[in-house]
Amino acid sequence: MRGIGRIGAVAVLLAALGAPASASECSVGDLNGDNVVNVLDLIDLLLCFGLPADPPCDTGDTNADGVINVLDLITLLLNFGSTTVAGGTFPATWINGGPNCPTEPAIQVHAYNADTYILRQSLCTNFEGPFIYLLFGQDKVLMQDTGAGGIAIASTVYGIIDTWLADHQQESIELIVSHSHAHGDHVAGDSQFNGQPDTTMVGLSSTAVASFFGISAWPTDIVEYDLGGGRIIDVIPIPGHQSAHIALYDRQTGLLLTGDTLYPGRLYISNFTQYIQSIRRLNDFIADKTVCHVLGTHIEMSNTPGDDYAFGATSHPDEHPLPLERSHLIELYDALLGMKGAPHIEVHDDFIVWPL
Ligand SMILES: [Zn+2]
Repeated sequence: MRGIGRIGAVAVLLAALGAPASASECSVGDLNGDNVVNVLDLIDLLLCFGLPADPPCDTGDTNADGVINVLDLITLLLNFGSTTVAGGTFPATWINGGPNCPTEPAIQVHAYNADTYILRQSLCTNFEGPFIYLLFGQDKVLMQDTGAGGIAIASTVYGIIDTWLADHQQESIELIVSHSHAHGDHVAGDSQFNGQPDTTMVGLSSTAVASFFGISAWPTDIVEYDLGGGRIIDVIPIPGHQSAHIALYDRQTGLLLTGDTLYPGRLYISNFTQYIQSIRRLNDFIADKTVCHVLGTHIEMSNTPGDDYAFGATSHPDEHPLPLERSHLIELYDALLGMKGAPHIEVHDDFIVWPL
């Protein structure tokens, strides 16, 4: 192993143990969820040693082989002392239209964790079926996108905020309505928020976005946006799909929100030169960050590799999962470089590069 370094050695060992590829990125070894891997987690694991991976021992089963054993102990020790990010969960399934339209809600509200919400607009209301994100800090809640229209998005969001305020015994919080980008299926609900109390709208042009977040040199400047209570969001300009597109990196959860720039679906590219620079900027930015999941704003692929639903489909049977990973961003960058300046449609297992 000489020459590959400690990280490399850890990776080789983890691979040999059958740990998931994202193991070192996302809260592995943090059994009690306090965001650090320490002696408390070690005690928890030892108390569960030899037992099946049922609650409360399930969090110690890092290699998902159904039992807490020496392999899990080794993984925990390899991650000992590392700080982790706040974890979260995804629903077993998202609403996916089609035969479910008579009964599924217009908006599915999912709490990824207590301070992070993911909303999905029903495909029955609009074929785009976009995802909307809410990130709560202590002073501000940042909303990414307002949906494709035809849904009561504002009353849903203010309802979530009221519940959050009650849970936190807090009087008020400022809602910041921002957008992944300015296309209609992400901004159509804006009018419902205009003029509402404790609500600030971010404009739609790249100039307006830059001015709101304090980005002096668009698109190369990457800035911090503080939601209060220690929750800091990095705002990364990534034009290419659309000129005012941004990505958000949430340090608290390790979530990277990539909008329509990267998601399991057709990645429409309107400006190839800008897009490839943006993907490089994103990859460079996350190189030294923990990335738990890469979350976009649509799903257009099925669970069959390389298979996308027809454009405009309002039924998505057997959908691809929402989360992508760092490896997909690298795969995308390699694909773009591989086109050697001659952009063309290229089908990958989990997304389709689609220059316009
Ligand atoms: Zn879109």
